[in-house]
Amino acid sequence: MNQAGTGPFAGREVGIDPALAERVLAQIDADETIGFLQALVRVPSVNPPGDVREAIRLVEEKLAAEGFATKTVGGTPEKVNLIATIEGQGAGPRLAFNAHLDVVPIGEESAWQYPPFGGEIHDGRVYGRGAGDDKASVTAQVMAAIALARSGVPFDGALIVTEVADEEIGGAAGAGFIVEGGHVEADFVIVGEQTLGQICVGERGGSPTKVTVFGATGHAATPWKGVNAIEGMARVITALREELWPILAQRTHPFLNQSTATISMIEGGVKTNVIPDRCTIHIDRRILPGETPEGVVTEIRAIAERAIAGVPGLRVETSAPIGRLAIEADPESPVSRALQAATRHIGKEVVLTGFFAGTDGKHFAKKGWPTLIMGPGDPATAHTPDEWVGIDEVIEATKLYALAALALLGRE
Ligand SMILES: [Zn+2]
Repeated sequence: MNQAGTGPFAGREVGIDPALAERVLAQIDADETIGFLQALVRVPSVNPPGDVREAIRLVEEKLAAEGFATKTVGGTPEKVNLIATIEGQGAGPRLAFNAHLDVVPIGEESAWQYPPFGGEIHDGRVYGRGAGDDKASVTAQVMAAIALARSGVPFDGALIVTEVADEEIGGAAGAGFIVEGGHVEADFVIVGEQTLGQICVGERGGSPTKVTVFGATGHAATPWKGVNAIEGMARVITALREELWPILAQRTHPFLNQSTATISMIEGGVKTNVIPDRCTIHIDRRILPGETPEGVVTEIRAIAERAIAGVPGLRVETSAPIGRLAIEADPESPVSRALQAATRHIGKEVVLTGFFAGTDGKHFAKKGWPTLIMGPGDPATAHTPDEWVGIDEVIEATKLYALAALALLGRE
């Protein structure tokens, strides 16, 4: 879905007054910031089961102490979400920060050199599960919001810090819950994930698709008496590779790379001496703006049906139970210009790109709120043993969030 920036604040002037920026940046304390990140990493908030209560409590306590109005809401007692708001002095846009406090499991602990929930510092890095994904973003957003509040610099509209549960399994009880439940209303959104501080104007959608070929079973000693579903699937896979993959490679986007498909699972057959009457593949299909889950299934079904058309006794079924559209914000929307101004202000090169995977951004973009993804850390370390984030990256992101808020909400 495209947020072309047609909202009430689409034409908002953004800019950074150097003197005001100094006042805001002076309120960022590196030791306090990294100490807060370490404290969050030391709270295991593994999903599943996804209990983030203790982590949310730490964040709420921190923001409430700085004068933010806080509320927590959740679909279940364990999956609570925090919405902390500080109102500006005049009418203006509402900017929401968002990141998540749930983390993926640690895997084999023996693969870790440092304790997964130790939050230890080595060589300028904070180590631990969630250090990068996504507690570094949570930390930078919280400390940026606090810096703006402490600075006393006047601003318009509101800054809303939303830190949520459940992102790692899709966000229905997290970002999806607070948006669908009307617990947050925003004009612009910045989602924190590991982008190396680069500005992602969108992300591809996903349309996981299941294809099943049905044949007829029989004794494997007399293959002519059955219809082999695995051999039928071989035709389907070959056709997809030869017909669909090249088409997808042609579908490109300036920020979101290309449309892709990967066959990620296959299952078929029941016994070594039985002709298989069923074979299923799962296709991980990533879609660009303009593509839809319905269109994806139609396209795959047509190719699969043609591929088996010459074999009597075979039929194919396709389904795509869950899908999500790509999200795309106008690179010239005020929130994008604000992040670009922030980036230039700290002397960093502006890189506009797309996020490689899916985020909670989809839940906010559904509302038509221009939604960008930007945060500290390298996505390559996420979900791996010895996950880490650079202290310098966290401090840089804290500055970027704070300056972007100033650029967007600062008095015109
Ligand atoms: Zn994440």
